[in-house]
This record gives sequence, C-alpha cells and structure tokens, in this order.
Amino acid sequence: MQPSTYSRPFVLKQYEALLRRLPFSHSSRPQIDSDYQKFKAGFAGEHSLSYYLPYLQEKAAIIQGLRLPSTFSDHYFQIDLLLLFPSFIYIGEVKHMNGTLDFDVKNGQLLRTNSEGQSGFSCPVAQVDRQKRELAKWLEAHGYPRIPIEADVIVSHEKAVIRDEQCPEKVYHSARMLYQLEEYMRHHTKRMMTKDKQRKLIDTLQKMTTEKRLDLLSRYQISVQEILRPFPCAACGARDMTRRRGRWQCRSCRNMTKTAHLYYLQDLSCLLESPIKKKELMSLLYISSRATLNRTVNDFWERSNDPSALKSDDIERHIAHIEKQDRRKR
Ligand SMILES: [Zn+2]
Repeated sequence: MQPSTYSRPFVLKQYEALLRRLPFSHSSRPQIDSDYQKFKAGFAGEHSLSYYLPYLQEKAAIIQGLRLPSTFSDHYFQIDLLLLFPSFIYIGEVKHMNGTLDFDVKNGQLLRTNSEGQSGFSCPVAQVDRQKRELAKWLEAHGYPRIPIEADVIVSHEKAVIRDEQCPEKVYHSARMLYQLEEYMRHHTKRMMTKDKQRKLIDTLQKMTTEKRLDLLSRYQISVQEILRPFPCAACGARDMTRRRGRWQCRSCRNMTKTAHLYYLQDLSCLLESPIKKKELMSLLYISSRATLNRTVNDFWERSNDPSALKSDDIERHIAHIEKQDRRKR
C-alpha cells in the first residue's frame, strides 16, 4: 500500500499569506509571527515522521493530517497519523515540544519545563483517547466492521525528555514507534477487513477530510482594507505597477512580471472570507478596463468575484504552468 502524500497544512499557507500582505509596521505582527512559528513547529513534528513511514508502506495504508466531522457533535476531530493494518488501526497524536515533559494522565495535564519556565497543557493521552472514541463511532456510523484501535502519543522533538509514570507504554519518542507497532502486529493477528474494504475506507477518509481554515483577519482584528492594497513590485516593494502587453512593469525599478498578480490573488484566496467587488479588484491589479480584468483573472474567477471561492492549489498550478512556459521561451 502506498502512503498518502502529506501536503503543508492550509493554516500555514494562510499565515504566510497574511505576513506577506500585512504592513511591516502593523502592531499585531509580532503576535501573528509567534503563532505562525507554533503552527510551523507542529507541522515539522508531523513531517519528521516521514522518515519512519517508508518502512510501513508494505504493511499499512498511511494517512497524515486527517480532519473529520464528529458524529458526537458539530465539531471536527483531528488525527495526526493514521495507519490502517488489516487487523487493527493505529492512531498517533504527535507532540513536537522540547524540554522536560511531565505527563500527568490522572489529572489530565501535561507540564512542560524548559528554558522559558514551566507551562501547562491539556493531556495528549486524554486527547488521543478522545480521537479513538470519535474514530470508532465514525466507523460504526459509516458501516465499517468493528476493528481494534491503538492510540498513542508520539513525541517528535529529539531533545524532549519524557517523564511518565502512569502509562509509559502510551507515550514515547518517534524512534520507538516502529518497535511499538511490531508489538501491536504480534498482538492483533486476526484480519478484520478485506483488501477492498480497506481501500474503500482509505478513499472515504481522504474524501471526507476537510482542511482547517482559520478566519485570521477576525482573530487578529485586522480590517479587510489593511490587506487590500495594490500588489507591490517583487523587486523593490513599490506599489506602482503598470500593465503592458500582458505583463506588469514597475514604474520605479522597471522590473517586469507576469505572475505577481497571481501570487497576490492566491494570498487573497487564503485570507478573505467574503467577496470583493470587481471594480475594487481592478484598482488592486492596476487594471483599467473590465475586458482586461476578465482576460486576466477569469481562469480562476469563473465569473465570480469571490476570492474565498478561489482554490489556492489551482492558482499554484497555474503559476507553475506560466513560469514553465516562460523558462522554455528563454
Ligand atoms: Zn520595482
């Protein structure tokens, strides 16, 4: 079985778009940057497991970054790593934290002590246990047979020191994961699903997973107008572009670009929750006629002026296509 490809979480793209579009002097910038670093560390932790996953591709189907609608409430539940073996499912909650980690499962807390002092978090063991119950309920609701689920906490930061006296077998460094899985494989020997059923389950999980999208503008109380400024020249930062034969040229440094507006639209698609007017878009893209605007953006806009309906991935593919064409011409 092939592992699923693990793309960067959408939330990271959103933060990067916001940091690109927000003025450097904005008072919320330090807070936004610090939150971005936290998300990035979380992603680095999940991504670091990629080192171990190739050893498992023959034995299990692998999904990273699942986010499914809960059958208990109108919320979503998230699973960092899911491995589907014919005889059981393994789910891993990944924690990328440095310092000494004291797991106090009885009181449902995790205490982290590092150079910055001590801080408390909710207990990841309880968290992964909740995910296990959510997943079991989800499988039942979607007509899948009962299958044993093993749920553990994986600490992915090399320098973390784990202290856990209450249930040490549930929390371990990523380096132990393969050994732990071998134990589970020895323990669960009865096949619970046919190959077809397994494939169907993976398909359904992948189809139903929804990327987390945050309303960053509300979260940091940023007005839409602070984001909606004409796109700057990539070379000198001046907001003084002029459109000429399908390209933009900076009036200040004469730099030419074919794709800068696409990067800009991609950022807007990551950040805006509601439509903007075509007229407004024309001034943001230094375009003076509707016909030119339609020629320029209609590939993605699909006659709608709703940037939140734009698919960031589609724009990314289009940018890659144009840049490839350009390289060929040169
Ligand atoms: Zn310039």
